[in-house]
Amino acid sequence: MISFLDLKKINEPYETAFQEKLKAVLDSGWYILGKEVETFEKAFAEYCNSKYCIGVANGLDALTLIFKGYIALGKLQKGDEVIVPANTYIASILAILQADLVPVLVEPRLETYNINPDLVEEKITSKTKAILAVHLYGQLAEMEKVNEIALKHDLILVEDCAQSHGTINNKQLTINNLKSAAAFSFYPGKNLGCLGDGGAITTNDAELAKVLFSLRNYGSEKKYENKYIGVNSRLDELQAGFLNLKLPNLDTDNQKRRNIAKRYLAEIKNEKIELPFWDFSNNHVFHLFVIRTKNRGNLQEYLTQHNIQTLIHYPIPPHKQKAFVKWNNLSFPITEKIHNEVLSLPMSPVLTASEVEFIIEVLNQY
Ligand SMILES: *Cc1c(COP(=O)(O)O)cnc(C)c1O
Repeated sequence: MISFLDLKKINEPYETAFQEKLKAVLDSGWYILGKEVETFEKAFAEYCNSKYCIGVANGLDALTLIFKGYIALGKLQKGDEVIVPANTYIASILAILQADLVPVLVEPRLETYNINPDLVEEKITSKTKAILAVHLYGQLAEMEKVNEIALKHDLILVEDCAQSHGTINNKQLTINNLKSAAAFSFYPGKNLGCLGDGGAITTNDAELAKVLFSLRNYGSEKKYENKYIGVNSRLDELQAGFLNLKLPNLDTDNQKRRNIAKRYLAEIKNEKIELPFWDFSNNHVFHLFVIRTKNRGNLQEYLTQHNIQTLIHYPIPPHKQKAFVKWNNLSFPITEKIHNEVLSLPMSPVLTASEVEFIIEVLNQY
């Protein structure tokens, strides 16, 4: 069976280094917010070409804390509206809700699966105060256009980079918009993944960074003095240690993903299959390689029979979820089409050339 994502194989080369790191952390006697977290924050900020990095417990918290940080600074208020793509992973929407803000769903472009900037302005009201752009499947959203809209309407711009570690947005395209911050997840299956939960926020905004360092640690800047109503959402010292070992290989891993994507795009030839759009720039890190087909169940079953594992990202759009009953009757035709037709092919830096060849061959015979 060709697995969709072989996490064991991805982490295998690090086994000895991980064990040494575990021993080093164990021996240090310091297990929370120590040297490893500090080192990672510095390295990841540098990697992202961003002034600050704040390690947190996971990607959802990274997003939620950005919004809570802006609330603590008085730049957002409870009940403010946040524009977000309708086809995003549920976490983007949950983060907005957990900060007592109101998500306003906008349709994506069918071609890129990312928010359609042409549809954003018609959703802006007097209560709109932020845009949450998501770089879905690893492809950068149209940030120049989105940033222009944000600047024009004086909106905060937040980026969900949980699937896009290493796209050039990390080299902060939004650099001239100081009202911006980006959220990352290091969930094991992401392009940069640890061996448990982990997350981070990057920003160039010194004021926001200061609040976030405090909010993730009980709202405290000085031990036992609490300035804000914070949470416990710290990046684990051991996970940071593992991430310090993996970060240097992120660009190489992303290039391997792009090379596989190039082959898929050039060699999959089947009228029944719609391939993803890519401009061949480093704007895409192929967290997922997502195709579309009318009879998805049929194709998935066919691939399973040929020992190729595929997944669906995602089968139910947020507005059709039981958790959001009041949205269930809303209509987002492009989002619904995407959720009905998408299928993710195996994609990872450890997928071999012969596996890629076999997948292409099987798809072409469908
Ligand atoms: C994974 C993911 C998150 C959440 O990250 P966690 O670390 O699992 O909390 C948020 N947004 C998107 C787009 C994701 O893919």
